[in-house]
Amino acid sequence: MKTFPMFLRMTGRTVVIAGGGEQAAQKARLVLKTEARIVLLADTLDDELETLVADGRATHCTEAPTASHFADAALAFIATGCPARDAAIAALAQAVGCTTNVVDQPDLCDAYTPSIVDRDPLVVAIGTEGAAPVLARQVKTKIETMLEPRLGDFTAMAGRMREAVARRVPKPARRAFWRWAFSDAPRRLHAAGAERDAAKALKDAIAQGGAPGTVTEGLISLVGAGPGARDLLTLRAVQRLQEADVIFYDRLVDPDVLELARRDAERIFVGKEVGASSWPQHKIDAVIVAAARKGQRVVRLKSGDPGIFGRATEELAAARDHGIAVEIVPGVTAASGSAAARGRSLTERGETDRVIFATGTCRAGDSAPDWGALCTPGTTLALYMGVAKAAEIEANLLAAGVPSSAEVEITCSASTPAERHLACTLSDLAKTVASEEVSNPAIILVRHSKLRTEVIAPTQPPLSLVATA
Ligand code: SAH
Repeated sequence: MKTFPMFLRMTGRTVVIAGGGEQAAQKARLVLKTEARIVLLADTLDDELETLVADGRATHCTEAPTASHFADAALAFIATGCPARDAAIAALAQAVGCTTNVVDQPDLCDAYTPSIVDRDPLVVAIGTEGAAPVLARQVKTKIETMLEPRLGDFTAMAGRMREAVARRVPKPARRAFWRWAFSDAPRRLHAAGAERDAAKALKDAIAQGGAPGTVTEGLISLVGAGPGARDLLTLRAVQRLQEADVIFYDRLVDPDVLELARRDAERIFVGKEVGASSWPQHKIDAVIVAAARKGQRVVRLKSGDPGIFGRATEELAAARDHGIAVEIVPGVTAASGSAAARGRSLTERGETDRVIFATGTCRAGDSAPDWGALCTPGTTLALYMGVAKAAEIEANLLAAGVPSSAEVEITCSASTPAERHLACTLSDLAKTVASEEVSNPAIILVRHSKLRTEVIAPTQPPLSLVATA
């Protein structure tokens, strides 16, 4: 290591920033995260820095820089915007031993600013000694996804309890207490927004002299895995995956996504396919409940958004029937993923002003959908599980008065390496699906524009749409 990472105490100390423009403001924003006094050494200040001075958060010194300006400073940032002037001022600061950072001139720097993941008081600083700033950003992004946004507040709360822990929890039990606090119910509750419950869990455990022997409350998270690409997961979804003891996933979840889970988490394939019965829903409900009752953190990973054609209702009910905490972590649904993959909006001002998510495959015995209502002028109709029913969909929409020229987009395996795009008109839908051998998963988007409404009176009754299973 040519540089040594340290955290500097900043309370009551002075940081001098030479410069009054944007570069100086960038450094000021960093220093503002600390409690340091900021001195701005510059003839003039931009509006942002003026405001800092007006708010009493910085002082403005218009004198010509001399070494004495840096004599008591903990740090100096030199950022006037003029490299030659920066070099001259840096020499003044370094003459009195002040640790100096000079913008864009690494050779003149005593210290470099790291990439920071800020969960104050938890702070992660990443540096590459200037060798690979892009890598530093990538690492930062990775760590950002590992640490829930509220972790700083939780860390501070835990910090406030340190004294009480020292008083009430015997020394040999303290490590286990903190391990429990940061990896179990308290952190989990806090991350989910239940701050009071988290504080209560900590206080109860302190009062009892240590972490609960065995933590029995499980949690079931119905997590949206998005359409495929793992960087379409939400930060919360990644968080839940990393906390999970066991993950139940189905056919459409990309293997890449599962890699985000802890190495030792159990992964169980529940192989549900449209209409297939190898893992019937009631069996899935039963196993996720059984796992949670053992105190495990259960993730039920579903493609897209769990709340859209995901049988979430049954799993929510099963959990609630057994008094088990359950939550939904929403995800990017296939319709959004498909439209985004084509670079086209789901709604288009003046043409379509509503989106309808519908399924092409209803339960056996369900009444047929009202096709006229599903696709009135101005609608983008997103049909899930529609490939096998393309002929019926085409016939029913035409019969309901949707113009034969309505645009249809078929997107297969959106956001995965197998992504494929096809386009046709409504009257060619079935033909295209057959000739192009379209296979699942695919979304059929029918755009019934307000501008192109050659209204055709319904000619035949809708065909019924039932699953073939
Ligand atoms: N909950 C999921 C939908 C599950 S139903 C969601 O919100 O996306 C399964 C159907 O979703 C598939 O038959 C297909 O129509 C669609 N689908 C899922 N992933 C897809 C993808 N990557 N590309 C296109 N369609 C997809």
